[in-house]
Amino acid sequence: MHSVPAFAAGTPVALGMPTTPAAGLLDRFGRRATDMRLSLTDKCNLRCSYCMPAEGLDWLKKNQVLTSDEILRIVRLGVEQLGVRELRLTGGEPLVRADLVDIIAGIRAAHPDLPVSLTTNGVGLARKAQALKDAGLTRLNVSMDTLHPGTFAQLTRRPFLDQVLAGIEAASAAGLDPIKINAVLMRGINDSGAAELLGWAVERGYELRFIEQMPLDADHGWTRQDMVTAAEIRELLAVEFDLSKDPRERDGAPAERFEVRRRGSTELLGTVGIIASVTEPFCSDCKRTRITAEGKVMSCLFSREETDLLALMRSAPVSAESDAAIIARWQEAMWAKPKAHGMGHVGLGAADFVQPDRSMSAIGG
Ligand code: SAM
Ligand code: SF4
Repeated sequence: MHSVPAFAAGTPVALGMPTTPAAGLLDRFGRRATDMRLSLTDKCNLRCSYCMPAEGLDWLKKNQVLTSDEILRIVRLGVEQLGVRELRLTGGEPLVRADLVDIIAGIRAAHPDLPVSLTTNGVGLARKAQALKDAGLTRLNVSMDTLHPGTFAQLTRRPFLDQVLAGIEAASAAGLDPIKINAVLMRGINDSGAAELLGWAVERGYELRFIEQMPLDADHGWTRQDMVTAAEIRELLAVEFDLSKDPRERDGAPAERFEVRRRGSTELLGTVGIIASVTEPFCSDCKRTRITAEGKVMSCLFSREETDLLALMRSAPVSAESDAAIIARWQEAMWAKPKAHGMGHVGLGAADFVQPDRSMSAIGG
């Protein structure tokens, strides 16, 4: 892994680069990032095979991870100076962070109108759902790939499905709405349960979103041939449901949404989203800026370049001047955002994609 070198003023790549915070997080291709993904930890209590190795990873030490004050500062700079309009907290598993509720409360106090969402695996959520709601969390995504305990244990290498289901129920009871369920399908493991999972979700008023498996597993076991594509997901669902395109504007959202009806029925049951990052990429509409748990900017999930904000933050006391230095470095990192990730053709001849060193859990999905 390496850091992005500062662009020398006047070099071709620096031409047009924002020189004032008001320009926001603009890149060379005219995209402006307004959606911030902030990872709170690299640690996790599951070992999903598409994300983590069975033995886990070498966790960061506490002093390598953003403190709650540093998190609040980055959010403040993003929202007040750089045009960030929504925030998603993720990880690793954000619920393992003991100060999660305080972090959310702090963000809410400073930014009363900012939509703040959380992506979690749901383990331990039952105990914390009400506190998260009370702290001001706006929305919740819970990742759950199957309704079958054995399959769950196979996929996540942990027997915690009951806890996840209890967490989702508790979140619903706490009034967190909407609740979205994220699912990754793995061929021959849980793909046959796709329609069942959708039936379960629409019955309860949850929006299910299938995410195409991306090459971000620590084991580097992903293959283009093996992944379940968006087209296949639609076919798997069509066995039980009619899907029609949701007429609402997509507006840069990663998920393509479909209205869901039982086959042959006109009754609208809900919607389902399909995030086709591999086969139908949406890079040209990307609005995301990512900060890892150790305070590095990643302009793209697949970026092989990282820009350290943490060392900069710790090198000087908080002041307008040190804020300005952080803002400039963040803008510089985003300016270098690649045009596209290039993974759609992996294994099919194109050589422009190299899997990043970091796995999904270490970036923040
Ligand atoms: N631990 C939390 C969770 O699982 O929801 C938050 C972090 S996790 C990295 C965020 C999302 O990334 C989850 O919905 C997970 O299913 C998804 N994810 C992880 N690895 C993936 C991969 N290789 N391809 C696609 N999605 C992946
Ligand atoms: Fe943990 Fe989420 Fe990765 Fe699963 S997907 S191993 S729950 S970080």
